[in-house]
Amino acid sequence: MKIICVGRNYAAHAQELGNEVPEEPVLFMKPSTALLSVGSDFHYPVFTKDLHYEAELVLRVSKRGSRIVSDAMNYVDAITVGIDFTARDVQAELKKKGLPWEKAKAWDQAAILGKWQAIPEGEIHFSLNKNGNPVQQGSTNYMIFPFDILIAHISQYFTLEPGDLIYTGTPAGVGPCVAGDLLEGYFENQSVFSLIIHA
Ligand code: ZN
Repeated sequence: MKIICVGRNYAAHAQELGNEVPEEPVLFMKPSTALLSVGSDFHYPVFTKDLHYEAELVLRVSKRGSRIVSDAMNYVDAITVGIDFTARDVQAELKKKGLPWEKAKAWDQAAILGKWQAIPEGEIHFSLNKNGNPVQQGSTNYMIFPFDILIAHISQYFTLEPGDLIYTGTPAGVGPCVAGDLLEGYFENQSVFSLIIHA
């Protein structure tokens, strides 16, 4: 299983981090070990002092596919909200030096997954609350590259296999969290995860 992540897929988020709006999807990956297993506690990593949440819609791949050109949505069968945790200080250093992002994004427990939902037709809303207050609100209507374009594009480079996950990018409002914070993800108005940041 692999985790494919999309960067800068919402213009307002690209701008808040001072990045250009991309002409094609920005892709990076996390290994399967980055997924927080169900029932495990999340711990604030020792190598960062600026851990950021990034709430994202996550698609589950259901069918093997390579160089997909049509019916891209037939290759996914479920959706939820997850977090692409990012060590923002580590990422800033790596970006400055032009180095890969893995140490900032692909570490153990850096991928959080909510409960799976059926994929609805039309616009999808999602949000993240921190300690009960809304911090991120997203809608598929504001994605630069919609799901079918992402799936087709990803599969030009990487064969999709059942069980792979696609994190489709975060909207504006990313920010820091500290030990003791409670993060709650919502798909439409349905709570799909509740995560405590342990020291
Ligand atoms: Zn992200």
